[in-house]
Amino acid sequence: MTAARLLIIGPQGSGKGTQGVRVAEALGIPAVSTGDVFRANVKDGTELGLKVKAIIDAGDLVPDELTGEIVRDRLAQPDAAAGFLLDGYPRNLGQVGDLDAFLDARDEPLTAVIELVVPREESIQRLSLRATEQGRADDNEESIAKRLAIYESETAPILDVYRQRGIVDQIDGVGTLDEVYARITAALTERGITAAAL
Ligand code: ADP
Repeated sequence: MTAARLLIIGPQGSGKGTQGVRVAEALGIPAVSTGDVFRANVKDGTELGLKVKAIIDAGDLVPDELTGEIVRDRLAQPDAAAGFLLDGYPRNLGQVGDLDAFLDARDEPLTAVIELVVPREESIQRLSLRATEQGRADDNEESIAKRLAIYESETAPILDVYRQRGIVDQIDGVGTLDEVYARITAALTERGITAAAL
Protein backbone atom coordinates (compact mmCIF):
# COMPACT_ATOMS: atom_id res chain seq x y z
CA MET A 1 0.00 0.00 0.00
CA THR A 2 1.22 3.48 -0.87
CA ALA A 3 0.62 6.42 1.47
CA ALA A 4 -2.00 8.85 0.23
CA ARG A 5 -0.26 12.20 -0.07
CA LEU A 6 -2.29 13.66 -2.88
CA LEU A 7 -2.79 16.81 -4.87
CA ILE A 8 -5.85 17.42 -7.01
CA ILE A 9 -5.46 20.01 -9.69
CA GLY A 10 -7.65 21.36 -12.47
CA PRO A 11 -9.09 24.59 -13.82
CA GLN A 12 -11.80 26.52 -12.01
CA GLY A 13 -15.08 24.68 -12.46
CA SER A 14 -13.38 21.31 -13.05
CA GLY A 15 -15.06 19.82 -9.99
CA LYS A 16 -11.81 19.32 -8.07
CA GLY A 17 -13.30 20.53 -4.77
CA THR A 18 -16.19 18.09 -4.92
CA GLN A 19 -14.08 15.15 -6.05
CA GLY A 20 -11.31 16.00 -3.62
CA VAL A 21 -13.61 15.89 -0.60
CA ARG A 22 -15.08 12.59 -1.73
CA VAL A 23 -11.74 10.90 -2.36
CA ALA A 24 -10.31 12.18 0.92
CA GLU A 25 -13.32 10.92 2.86
CA ALA A 26 -13.05 7.49 1.30
CA LEU A 27 -9.36 7.30 2.16
CA GLY A 28 -9.83 8.67 5.67
CA ILE A 29 -7.48 11.61 5.13
CA PRO A 30 -8.16 15.35 5.47
CA ALA A 31 -8.91 17.40 2.35
CA VAL A 32 -6.98 20.63 2.63
CA SER A 33 -8.39 23.36 0.39
CA THR A 34 -6.65 26.72 0.61
CA GLY A 35 -9.65 28.38 -1.04
CA ASP A 36 -11.96 26.96 1.66
CA VAL A 37 -9.62 28.13 4.43
CA PHE A 38 -9.56 31.64 2.98
CA ARG A 39 -13.34 31.75 2.46
CA ALA A 40 -14.01 30.57 6.02
CA ASN A 41 -11.73 33.32 7.35
CA VAL A 42 -13.42 35.96 5.22
CA LYS A 43 -16.82 34.78 6.45
CA ASP A 44 -15.72 34.89 10.09
CA GLY A 45 -14.06 38.27 9.65
CA THR A 46 -10.71 37.10 11.07
CA GLU A 47 -7.51 39.09 10.67
CA LEU A 48 -6.47 36.75 7.85
CA GLY A 49 -9.90 37.11 6.25
CA LEU A 50 -9.67 40.90 6.26
CA LYS A 51 -6.23 40.68 4.70
CA VAL A 52 -7.23 38.43 1.80
CA LYS A 53 -10.82 39.39 0.96
CA ALA A 54 -10.07 41.98 -1.71
CA ILE A 55 -7.41 39.73 -3.29
CA ILE A 56 -9.76 36.77 -3.53
CA ASP A 57 -12.72 38.77 -4.84
CA ALA A 58 -10.52 40.15 -7.61
CA GLY A 59 -9.33 36.65 -8.53
CA ASP A 60 -5.70 37.37 -7.71
CA LEU A 61 -3.39 35.01 -5.82
CA VAL A 62 -2.82 35.48 -2.11
CA PRO A 63 0.95 36.00 -1.47
CA ASP A 64 2.91 32.73 -1.42
CA GLU A 65 4.33 33.33 2.04
CA LEU A 66 0.93 33.66 3.66
CA THR A 67 -0.55 30.71 1.79
CA GLY A 68 2.46 28.51 2.53
CA GLU A 69 2.26 29.21 6.22
CA ILE A 70 -1.39 28.17 6.31
CA VAL A 71 -0.70 24.92 4.49
CA ARG A 72 2.33 24.03 6.63
CA ASP A 73 0.32 24.64 9.81
CA ARG A 74 -2.49 22.46 8.54
CA LEU A 75 -0.22 19.61 7.40
CA ALA A 76 1.52 19.63 10.77
CA GLN A 77 -1.76 18.67 12.49
CA PRO A 78 -1.88 15.07 13.72
CA ASP A 79 -4.75 14.06 11.40
CA ALA A 80 -2.55 14.75 8.36
CA ALA A 81 0.26 12.46 9.53
CA ALA A 82 -1.13 9.43 7.70
CA GLY A 83 -1.88 11.32 4.51
CA PHE A 84 -3.72 14.29 3.04
CA LEU A 85 -5.29 15.62 -0.12
CA LEU A 86 -4.32 19.12 -1.20
CA ASP A 87 -6.79 21.13 -3.28
CA GLY A 88 -5.69 24.50 -4.65
CA TYR A 89 -2.13 24.37 -3.35
CA PRO A 90 0.47 24.56 -4.81
CA ARG A 91 -0.65 26.63 -7.77
CA ASN A 92 2.57 28.22 -8.99
CA LEU A 93 6.21 27.14 -9.21
CA GLY A 94 7.23 29.08 -6.11
CA GLN A 95 4.65 27.21 -4.06
CA VAL A 96 5.88 23.89 -5.47
CA GLY A 97 9.34 24.75 -4.11
CA ASP A 98 7.92 25.72 -0.72
CA LEU A 99 5.90 22.52 -0.48
CA ASP A 100 8.85 20.38 -1.61
CA ALA A 101 11.04 21.88 1.12
CA PHE A 102 8.42 21.10 3.74
CA LEU A 103 7.64 17.56 2.56
CA ASP A 104 11.29 16.66 1.86
CA ALA A 105 12.19 17.60 5.43
CA ARG A 106 9.59 15.06 6.59
CA ASP A 107 10.72 12.56 3.97
CA GLU A 108 7.13 12.40 2.79
CA PRO A 109 6.85 13.37 -0.89
CA LEU A 110 3.56 13.59 -2.77
CA THR A 111 2.55 10.16 -4.06
CA ALA A 112 0.00 11.14 -6.72
CA VAL A 113 -1.25 14.22 -8.53
CA ILE A 114 -4.75 13.97 -9.98
CA GLU A 115 -5.10 16.28 -12.98
CA LEU A 116 -8.74 16.89 -13.87
CA VAL A 117 -9.05 17.75 -17.54
CA VAL A 118 -12.08 19.81 -18.53
CA PRO A 119 -12.47 21.90 -21.71
CA ARG A 120 -12.60 25.62 -21.15
CA GLU A 121 -16.19 26.09 -22.41
CA GLU A 122 -17.42 23.39 -20.05
CA SER A 123 -15.71 24.88 -17.00
CA ILE A 124 -17.01 28.37 -17.78
CA GLN A 125 -20.52 26.94 -18.08
CA ARG A 126 -20.22 25.16 -14.73
CA LEU A 127 -18.87 28.31 -13.09
CA SER A 128 -21.78 30.46 -14.19
CA LEU A 129 -24.13 27.82 -12.80
CA ARG A 130 -22.20 27.85 -9.51
CA ALA A 131 -22.41 31.65 -9.45
CA THR A 132 -26.20 31.48 -9.40
CA GLU A 133 -26.36 28.52 -7.02
CA GLN A 134 -23.71 29.46 -4.45
CA GLY A 135 -23.26 33.19 -4.95
CA ARG A 136 -19.50 33.11 -4.40
CA ALA A 137 -18.20 36.68 -4.48
CA ASP A 138 -15.34 35.69 -6.79
CA ASP A 139 -17.58 33.99 -9.35
CA ASN A 140 -18.09 37.16 -11.36
CA GLU A 141 -17.04 37.43 -14.98
CA GLU A 142 -13.91 39.47 -14.38
CA SER A 143 -12.59 37.34 -11.54
CA ILE A 144 -13.32 34.09 -13.38
CA ALA A 145 -11.44 35.30 -16.46
CA LYS A 146 -8.47 36.29 -14.32
CA ARG A 147 -8.42 32.98 -12.41
CA LEU A 148 -8.57 30.94 -15.60
CA ALA A 149 -5.74 33.03 -17.09
CA ILE A 150 -3.64 32.49 -13.94
CA TYR A 151 -4.43 28.78 -14.11
CA GLU A 152 -3.10 28.58 -17.64
CA SER A 153 -0.01 30.74 -17.12
CA GLU A 154 1.05 29.75 -13.58
CA THR A 155 -0.70 26.58 -12.46
CA ALA A 156 -0.66 24.37 -15.57
CA PRO A 157 3.19 24.61 -15.77
CA ILE A 158 3.59 22.98 -12.35
CA LEU A 159 2.16 19.81 -13.86
CA ASP A 160 5.33 19.44 -15.93
CA VAL A 161 7.38 19.30 -12.74
CA TYR A 162 5.19 16.57 -11.29
CA ARG A 163 4.98 14.76 -14.62
CA GLN A 164 8.77 14.44 -14.59
CA ARG A 165 8.43 12.69 -11.24
CA GLY A 166 5.98 10.25 -12.79
CA ILE A 167 3.19 10.94 -10.32
CA VAL A 168 0.55 12.63 -12.51
CA ASP A 169 -2.69 10.86 -13.41
CA GLN A 170 -4.66 12.66 -16.13
CA ILE A 171 -8.35 12.18 -15.52
CA ASP A 172 -11.12 13.10 -17.93
CA GLY A 173 -13.31 15.44 -15.85
CA VAL A 174 -16.29 15.37 -18.19
CA GLY A 175 -19.11 13.08 -17.10
CA THR A 176 -21.28 12.53 -14.04
CA LEU A 177 -19.79 12.95 -10.57
CA ASP A 178 -19.83 9.17 -10.15
CA GLU A 179 -18.12 8.54 -13.47
CA VAL A 180 -15.32 10.98 -12.74
CA TYR A 181 -14.94 9.63 -9.19
CA ALA A 182 -14.62 6.09 -10.56
CA ARG A 183 -11.87 7.20 -12.96
CA ILE A 184 -9.95 8.83 -10.11
CA THR A 185 -10.18 5.85 -7.78
CA ALA A 186 -9.16 3.47 -10.57
CA ALA A 187 -6.01 5.54 -11.16
CA LEU A 188 -5.22 5.68 -7.44
CA THR A 189 -5.77 1.94 -7.05
CA GLU A 190 -3.32 1.40 -9.87
CA ARG A 191 -0.74 3.23 -7.76
CA GLY A 192 -1.51 1.13 -4.71
CA ILE A 193 -3.39 3.97 -3.01
CA THR A 194 -6.47 2.32 -1.64
CA ALA A 195 -8.84 2.08 1.27
CA ALA A 196 -11.66 -0.31 1.87
CA ALA A 197 -14.13 2.51 1.26
CA LEU A 198 -12.85 3.27 -2.24
P1 ADP B 1 -10.88 28.50 -7.74
O1 ADP B 1 -10.14 27.24 -8.09
O2 ADP B 1 -12.26 28.54 -8.32
O3 ADP B 1 -10.10 29.74 -8.04
P2 ADP B 1 -10.26 28.19 -4.92
O4 ADP B 1 -11.25 27.94 -3.84
O5 ADP B 1 -9.24 27.14 -5.17
O6 ADP B 1 -11.16 28.47 -6.18
O7 ADP B 1 -9.48 29.56 -4.65
C1 ADP B 1 -10.19 30.77 -4.43
C2 ADP B 1 -9.19 31.92 -4.27
O8 ADP B 1 -8.39 31.71 -3.09
C3 ADP B 1 -8.16 32.10 -5.38
O9 ADP B 1 -8.66 32.84 -6.48
C4 ADP B 1 -7.04 32.84 -4.65
O10 ADP B 1 -7.35 34.21 -4.46
C5 ADP B 1 -7.06 32.19 -3.28
N1 ADP B 1 -6.14 31.02 -3.25
C6 ADP B 1 -6.49 29.71 -3.09
N2 ADP B 1 -5.42 28.92 -3.13
C7 ADP B 1 -4.35 29.73 -3.32
C8 ADP B 1 -2.96 29.51 -3.45
N3 ADP B 1 -2.44 28.28 -3.43
N4 ADP B 1 -2.16 30.57 -3.63
C9 ADP B 1 -2.65 31.81 -3.67
N5 ADP B 1 -3.96 32.10 -3.55
C10 ADP B 1 -4.80 31.07 -3.38
